[in-house]
Amino acid sequence: MNSPVLADLPTHATALVWRGVGPEATADFDITDLPLTPEEGDAVVQVDFATVCGSDRHTVEGRRPGACPSVLGHEAVGRLVRVPPGRLGVTGTELQVGDRVIWSVIAACAGPQRCDRCRAGLSAKCRNLRKTGHEALDSGWPLSGGYASHVVLPPGLAIAPVPASVDDLPAATAACAAATVMACRQAATDITPIGGQRVLIIGAGMLGLYAAAVSATGGAAEVVVVDPDPTRRGLAEQFGATSTAATADGALADVVFELSGAPSSVRAGLAALDVGGVLVLAGSVAPHGTIEVDPEQVVRRLITVRGVHNYEPPHLDEAVRFLADTDWPWHLVIGDPVPLAELPEVFARPVRPEVLRAGVRLSSGAR
Ligand SMILES: [Zn+2]
Ligand SMILES: [Zn+2]
Repeated sequence: MNSPVLADLPTHATALVWRGVGPEATADFDITDLPLTPEEGDAVVQVDFATVCGSDRHTVEGRRPGACPSVLGHEAVGRLVRVPPGRLGVTGTELQVGDRVIWSVIAACAGPQRCDRCRAGLSAKCRNLRKTGHEALDSGWPLSGGYASHVVLPPGLAIAPVPASVDDLPAATAACAAATVMACRQAATDITPIGGQRVLIIGAGMLGLYAAAVSATGGAAEVVVVDPDPTRRGLAEQFGATSTAATADGALADVVFELSGAPSSVRAGLAALDVGGVLVLAGSVAPHGTIEVDPEQVVRRLITVRGVHNYEPPHLDEAVRFLADTDWPWHLVIGDPVPLAELPEVFARPVRPEVLRAGVRLSSGAR
């Protein structure tokens, strides 16, 4: 059997380990060498560039539970340095050492013993789900996160090659923000096409900008983006919004993407649906409270409410293809990359509304 391992695969990876909340309530990080010991079916990537997703910040700030100590980071791009024989990319092509790739946030079951949800096409909710950049150092998958020189990609984790025409900077964000929006798009288009429709997007963070760009590219008649922050509304206009507003009051739409998670926004999104419309919820990932739903309105207006959490492997490929086929100015919203050693300072600084993603440059040989 041919050895899939490059001769120069190092024995250790250099990783930024998150150790929880340190003195003065700041996040505690250190840079540590961790053994790089992939198992038989594991691929290994050398990371070139990673971005800081909002959920990484929430984890570090204690606003969502996170395994600790751990290596965070689930938006990254790099090059394969180890490919087990027969390991395929998400579209079924054979992966090669040297391929530039992104990878899913989800490691689901692999092989014939897959769980019932995976067999049903709901691998996003696999019963044996593990997540990129979410696993503890002692979990058996210590190198799960992108804030490291190398990431181990177990079987059941989708890998998507990235064409050279897509820069590192948006490519990394495809693994979480863009792929999640592709899942949102499917949740909507299962009910109604986006082309020619009125789309309302609540929340102009990274997901909101992707939703606007996807809706505009898909030929929506209107793309209205709602966000209380004027800077974010200004950004939305550069990503396909035909108009923006501070609130969703009085809006009328066929498709609503609720990406903020605020109960008041969910209520407004529901109220905005015209007959036959669909409300896609993806922002409500924390228990922020309940809203009242009038079932008579659901019945009389023939409306649909759908939830999206994580995404399926084809959405990862759709995200890459969207970036390859379109030319939105993603460089406007991603900050100047810092080296790994400076990432703790990035987490400690307040977020500026115009910088939707901080970037981390891992290797010097990349683009
Ligand atoms: Zn994320
Ligand atoms: Zn499963």
